[in-house]
Amino acid sequence: MNTSLLTPDKDPMGHAVSEYYRKPASINIRVFSSQFDEDVIPVSHLFRSYPEMSPLEKRAIDLATGSILDIGAGAGCHALALQEQKKEVTAIDISPLLVETMKERGVRQTKLLNFFDPGFQEQYDTILMLMNGAGIIGKTENMPLFFNRIKQLLTPGGSLYLDSSDLRYLYEEEDGSFEIDLAAGYYGEVDFQMQYKTVKGDSFDWLYIDFQTLGYYASQYGFRTELIEEGEHYDYLARITKR
Ligand code: SAH
Repeated sequence: MNTSLLTPDKDPMGHAVSEYYRKPASINIRVFSSQFDEDVIPVSHLFRSYPEMSPLEKRAIDLATGSILDIGAGAGCHALALQEQKKEVTAIDISPLLVETMKERGVRQTKLLNFFDPGFQEQYDTILMLMNGAGIIGKTENMPLFFNRIKQLLTPGGSLYLDSSDLRYLYEEEDGSFEIDLAAGYYGEVDFQMQYKTVKGDSFDWLYIDFQTLGYYASQYGFRTELIEEGEHYDYLARITKR
C-alpha cells in the first residue's frame, strides 16, 4: 500500500484549491479515467459551506461527536463546518498545498499525513470519510489493511461515517438487467487521473462500493455496518462500528 504524500508537481487539486482560495473563479479540475469519459470537478464544490452540502454530508457532520478525524479533508469544508458547530476536529490530507490552504482558511488542527501510514496511532471517537470517502480504500484487496487502520484509530465505541455509491447503474441495460463481468473484478474499482492547467497527477485507484459489499467486508474484520441514509442516486452514508 502506498503511504506516501503528494509533491506539488503531481498535485493538480492542491494547485487548483490554493489558487481558488486566493482568487475565487469558475475553474475546473479535469478528471480522466480509463472507464469513463473525461469529466470535471468544479473547484467551488470543494469550498461548499454547510448549507450547500448534500443531506448525507450534513447528517455525518451532525452525528459526529467527541474527537473527530476528517480523512482526506481536501479544502477543509467539513472541518470548518464541524468547528462552527463547536466540535473538535483534526483534518488530514496527503497534499501539502491542501493542508496549507486548510490552515489559512482557519482549520485549527491539521496534519499532512497519509491515512495508511502505520506510524499514525492516535485514537478518535468519530472518523469521517466524505465525498465518496470509500475511494481512499482504492481496491477491495486493500480491505484488510483499511479495517486494520480503522481498528487502530477508533476509540472503543467510536464510529466511522463514510459515503459511497453503488456503480451498478453504469451497467444497467434498457430492460433493467445488469451486465456485469464478474471475472473483471469488483465493478466499483476505478482509476482516475486529474489535471489542473499543466499540472497532471499520477493515476490512482478509487473505490466505489455498494452497501452490501461494504457490510460483508466490515463483518469479516469485526465491524458492524449500518445504513444511515440513502441519497438520490445510488449513494448512501454508512456508519461502521466495532462489534
Ligand atoms: N473530503 C473533501 C475532499 C475530497 S477529495 C471534500 O469532501 O471536499 C479526496 C481527498 O483525499 C483529496 O484531498 C486527497 O488528497 C485526499 N487523500 C487521498 N488519499 C489519501 C490518503 N491515503 N490519506 C489521506 N488523504 C488522502
